[in-house]
Amino acid sequence: MELLDVKELQTHYLTPFGAVKAVDDISFKLRKGTALGFAGESGCGKTTVALSIMRILPYPGKVIGGEVLFKGTNLLDLNEAELRQVRWKGISTVFQGAMASLNPLFKVGRQIADPILIHEDVDKKEAHSRANELLDLVGIDPMRANNYPWELSGGMRQRVMIAMGLACNPDVIIADEPTTALDVIVAHSVMELIKDLRKKLDLSMMLITHDISVIAQTCDELAIMYAGKIVEHSDVSTMFESPLHPYTDALISSFPSIKGSKRVLKSIVGSPPDLINPPPGCNFNPRCPYARDVCNKEDPVMEQASNNHNVACHFWEEISANR
Ligand code: SF4
Repeated sequence: MELLDVKELQTHYLTPFGAVKAVDDISFKLRKGTALGFAGESGCGKTTVALSIMRILPYPGKVIGGEVLFKGTNLLDLNEAELRQVRWKGISTVFQGAMASLNPLFKVGRQIADPILIHEDVDKKEAHSRANELLDLVGIDPMRANNYPWELSGGMRQRVMIAMGLACNPDVIIADEPTTALDVIVAHSVMELIKDLRKKLDLSMMLITHDISVIAQTCDELAIMYAGKIVEHSDVSTMFESPLHPYTDALISSFPSIKGSKRVLKSIVGSPPDLINPPPGCNFNPRCPYARDVCNKEDPVMEQASNNHNVACHFWEEISANR
């Protein structure tokens, strides 16, 4: 069953210099019990997708087209009161930078209990008892419920954020760069926790990260974003074994493989385009080693390369044949 069905979503930031096309006509589905990862360089639109779904875009962001169907209801049509019924219980978020997201003036137990009190029919005692259970679930001694965020380590704070995200048993959890501010060891333990919770709770999740290797460990499907568009989408193993878009290939080659053989890491030459005045044709053409004349004239459309493997590149068949 599809929980989320995003259709032709377009989000722009309306600046004095022109509209920044941060999300440019993207479509995807999230089925129950699956985890879909979004990867791409900073500024490719991943976080804007999450903010658009939750309708918490900062000014001057504006969704200018498309639909965000959650269990069949278009979230873009709801008023604030109706949206409050969806946030936390329907879809909840775990943002990066726990220190900035948690309130330093309140104990962490209270911060987890508050959304439970607001959205569930429970009294204060029950909400705090559930907060303690959630702390235990994410590997924190429930005694730490009485601590303030600044009394916890970075990894513990991020675990508290995850507990908050789970507070109202949401249908979908959106985790946006949940490990970015953490060192490698702590980031690994937080990702292991997310993996465990997925199994235990049969979580449906959108995971947003610039680190494609994190998605390899935790997700079922992977969507690669470049300059506001999804350029390739498939299950994780297909994407890693046979990427068809030159950008996906470059992204995979730029991260070390923990399990695979040693290889030279390649950086991606150039930088992402200006999204106010993107290049004509394929957005990736100024950086693409495969680019030809047609690439700076025609924007490639998404094509089905095989079952559950879609790609937007004029030359994916040739790339596939020459692999
Ligand atoms: Fe490269 Fe052309 Fe494919 Fe774009 S369409 S990714 S420029 S080969």
